Formats: sequence, structure tokens, C-alpha cells
Amino acid sequence: MSQFEALGLSPRLLKSLASLGYEVPTPIQAQAIPLILRGRDLMGLAQTGTGKTAAFGLPLIHHLMAEHARPDARSCRSLILAPTRELANQIADNLRGFTRGTPLTVTVVVGGASLNVQTRNLQRGTDILVATPGRLLDLIERRAVTLAAARFLVLDEADQMLDMGFIHALRRIAPLLAKPRQTLLFSATMPKQMAELSAAYLHDPERVQVSPPGKAADKITQEVHFVTQAGKTALLKELLAKHPNSLSLVFARTKHGAERLMKSLVAEGFRAASIHGNKSQGQRDRALKGFREGQIRILVATDVAARGIDIPDVRQVYNYDLPEVAENYVHRIGRTARAGKDGTAIAFCTPGDIGLLRAVEKIMGIKVAVASGEVPPESAAAPKARSAGRGNHGGGNTAAKPRRQRSRARRGPSRKAA
Ligand code: AMP
Repeated sequence: MSQFEALGLSPRLLKSLASLGYEVPTPIQAQAIPLILRGRDLMGLAQTGTGKTAAFGLPLIHHLMAEHARPDARSCRSLILAPTRELANQIADNLRGFTRGTPLTVTVVVGGASLNVQTRNLQRGTDILVATPGRLLDLIERRAVTLAAARFLVLDEADQMLDMGFIHALRRIAPLLAKPRQTLLFSATMPKQMAELSAAYLHDPERVQVSPPGKAADKITQEVHFVTQAGKTALLKELLAKHPNSLSLVFARTKHGAERLMKSLVAEGFRAASIHGNKSQGQRDRALKGFREGQIRILVATDVAARGIDIPDVRQVYNYDLPEVAENYVHRIGRTARAGKDGTAIAFCTPGDIGLLRAVEKIMGIKVAVASGEVPPESAAAPKARSAGRGNHGGGNTAAKPRRQRSRARRGPSRKAA
């Protein structure tokens, strides 16, 4: 008996898993699948890359197949909410792999794509609907879909949904589902609000946890370069040139900063693209595809790409700008060392950003090794890093940040450091 069989999954699913090369359940799968199969609500603390899509996707598909039902027109039998379009598409791709050879259908609705096409796709109903909250509400208002028959709700990357102000959307969406329903909530961190979310939407949940929040995969080597703002781009180019054949992800704080940096890299012959909230969905999809396939070697991103995105071959993650929310560092560097590979997380720290670095070290519980530069004096003027999960209702799919902080990021530490 295979280890997946021992978890209680149906033979049909076991066949799909074998064809996908899944042999051994990951820890989150081993813990969560039996509980979800028993119908329990679940709160899962797991970072991306731990196999959590299959942890909720497989038992969900098992339940849907066991019901032998078909979706009614313009309805769905289960709903998965995700914070970003990229993550929603990735979840749907994963689920389509699991449902291959079954009659189950998977439909995605995300912002930035045609409402008419999505309305048409929903006409026959779907077994699994993967959605970003804003677009789902639009479609519900247009009566393109009803949730009344959905007995399963998955909230993925719930902490990021809170950060992006989706709590209001969730308040409107959750009551529209069938009662009773099974609810699964996954989050990479457990800010205080998660307990409130759990109390509001989950019934007597089981809790599973695979790695403590803030702990990076052990395989990631972390280092920091102390550098002036003006010296960052030259240093980045120097470091990138040392690894011409590997995939590097570079995080910048602002959309404009990311765009400028990408253009500067391209001008010097680096195969770079950018992904941030000012890009159209088509541009974002193309950049990610090129990066996944290796035509693009360097992807410059804002935090829109910090979560969920699974590109196994990313070897270097650069924090060209340290994140203002220290927890985002954990998500950013989690884009490397995936699928058992090694990875390096390289942070650039200007004198004005020392407070941000210390905040990162505090939540990681480590001291990041210094790779170059002089450690600046700890300045009382250094900005304090914010903690995630508190009242950031910027909305949209970009690194949501209140305007005040955005302008501080542009003016404050960078100018002083330059
Ligand atoms: P996730 O955390 O869901 O984004 O999954 C991370 C990656 O691990 C994806 O590429 C999955 O296809 C892969 N994966 C998940 N579970 C398994 C498994 N049990 N065996 C092999 N690969 C897996």
C-alpha cells in the first residue's frame, strides 16, 4: 500500500498522483489529508512550497467525486479563494493535474481578465471554482455564478488576504455558501487576526503546522551586503554576472523602482523582465512564463510575486530593497530552495535600512551573515519595520501599502543613504 493510499484517498486519485510522480506525502499532506477526509474544518500553518495545494486539493477532489453530483448551471460545488491572480492560476493548474481523467471541472476567475469570457465559462457550472475575492464578487453581482451549492471553502494564503484588505470581501462571500460547509484555512504566518478569522468562519477546527512561522527553509543560505543606495545597482549587476545561467528573483520596494531596475539590467544585456501591479495581466503572465521556461533569467518584482509562486529552479533571491513588513522577507526568500534544491537569499542593506534588517533578523531568529560592506551604526532614525496583518487595506494585487508609507519609502532612507 502506498503512503498516499494509507491516507485514505480514492484509487482514481492515487492513479493521478502516480502519473504526476508524487510518491511520498509531504508533512502537511500527511497531517491534513486524513483530517479533511473526515470532514473536519482545518487551520493549516504552512509556507508555500510545502505541498499545501495538494494537502487541501486531494481530499477536496476525493469528496467531490464521492458525491457523484454535477454542478448546476452558474453554480460551483467548492470555492477556493486566493489573494493574487498568479496564485489562483497556479492552484487551478495544480488541481487540473489531479482531476485529469475525472469528470470534475476546474474554473478560475481572476481580475484583469475578461468578465464576459469568465461569465461564459461559468454558464455550465463548475465543480471547483478558484477565485480572487474582488472578481468573484463582481461575478456574483452580475448573477454569473451563485455559491449556494458550494459546501467546501478553502482560504489560501489567508494572511496575505488580510494584508490586502480582502476581509470585507470575505465577509460578503462566506454567508453565500451552503450550510453546513467544510472550511479550510491556510496561512503562512499566524497574525492575531487569524484567530478571529478562524473563530468567524471555521467550526471546531483542527490545527496543523509544518514549520514555525518565520523559519526559512534550512537549505537557504542568507547573506547581507551593506551598500549605499547609489551603489546597489552596480553591486547587483556584479553578483548577477557571477551566475549567468541561474534564475534570480530580485525584489524591489516600489513598482517604479522595479521597472527602472529591470530597464537598467536589460540595457546591459541581462535577460530580465519585471512583474508588478502596473503591468497588465498579459504582461505579468508572459514574464512569469518566460522566467519559468528559462528565456528570462532575472525577474524583478514587487511583493506581488512574494507569495505562492512556485518556480523550482530559482537559485538566488535578492532583496534589492529590504521589505518594510519583515514577514515579507520570509515569503520572498521562500521562492528559492524549493523542491529540495539549494538557494541563496541576498539582502542589500543601506545605512537607512538597518532597522528593517534587524526586524528581519528578529522574526527569523538569526543573524544574517555579512558578505560585504561596513556595518553602519545602529541609527535611532532608522525606520521601524511594520509587522504584517494590521490594517493594511490597500487592495489590488500589488504590494499593498498605504500612500504615506510608499512616499516614505521613496524619500526617507534612500535619500539619506545615497
Ligand atoms: P505547493 O506548496 O502546493 O505550492 O507545492 C510545491 C511543489 O511541490 C509543487 O511543485 C508541487 O507539485 C510539489 N509537490 C507537492 N506535493 C508533492 C509530493 N507529495 N511529492 C512530490 N512533489 C510534490
